[in-house]
Amino acid sequence: MITLKSSREIELMDRAGTVVALVHKALKEAIKPGITTLQIDRICEEVIRDNGCTPSFKNLYGFPGAVCTSVNEVLVHGIPDHTILKDGDIITVDVGACYKGYHGDSGWTYAVGEIKPETRKLLEVTEESLYKGLEQAKPGNHIGDIASAIQEYVESFGYSLPIEYTGHGIGRSVHEDPYVPNVGRPGTLELLKPGMCIAVEPMVFMGRPHCVTLADGWGVVNRERSLSAHYEHSIAITQDGYKILTKED
Ligand code: MG
Ligand code: MG
Repeated sequence: MITLKSSREIELMDRAGTVVALVHKALKEAIKPGITTLQIDRICEEVIRDNGCTPSFKNLYGFPGAVCTSVNEVLVHGIPDHTILKDGDIITVDVGACYKGYHGDSGWTYAVGEIKPETRKLLEVTEESLYKGLEQAKPGNHIGDIASAIQEYVESFGYSLPIEYTGHGIGRSVHEDPYVPNVGRPGTLELLKPGMCIAVEPMVFMGRPHCVTLADGWGVVNRERSLSAHYEHSIAITQDGYKILTKED
């Protein structure tokens, strides 16, 4: 069931989202060759708790980390561990924070040191596809308009989007209805209305979109183990468009 949020609820989500943005600000400084994904997890949890929030993903469906740390070919749900990041790696850190029962969710892919031009291109295209999707986020449009804009842009570069992993509604739960896929047709799926809060999150493979779950039961890669990237904002649909909740005000 899709719930429309009141302005008071959106204020709480905006606060949660601002804390998520503060975490990403800290990560921009912290992510360097030599850091482990567990150290990254600790930094995230500290910023989340220092700002009066709790980490949304800790124990969610049994996930062991405070955040997801997905390195190189791992698309989503990487578990923080003793992996040491090297120059030329990429890492997606997916951060969720809960403030007074309301969640914010934003994932971002970072370069570790100097990355190859083709890797840089994957990151740029995936980030831009998030904004192509967001351009369609307004009352009267449908979820399928967001999906179609993301798909058209990403596929024009020869990259792919797995259908199994999607964005989602967000609010009192970090994952709510509706699904917000990254593949779809204009004018289909739910009608967007003011007060709807959703996470838009293109997850992109450089190669083909055949997903495999790793032996740890969490990390997701594709069969050919190509690089992958992921950019996400949580937004509220407003009277005339959208407001990004997961950024600093
Ligand atoms: Mg996320
Ligand atoms: Mg999400």
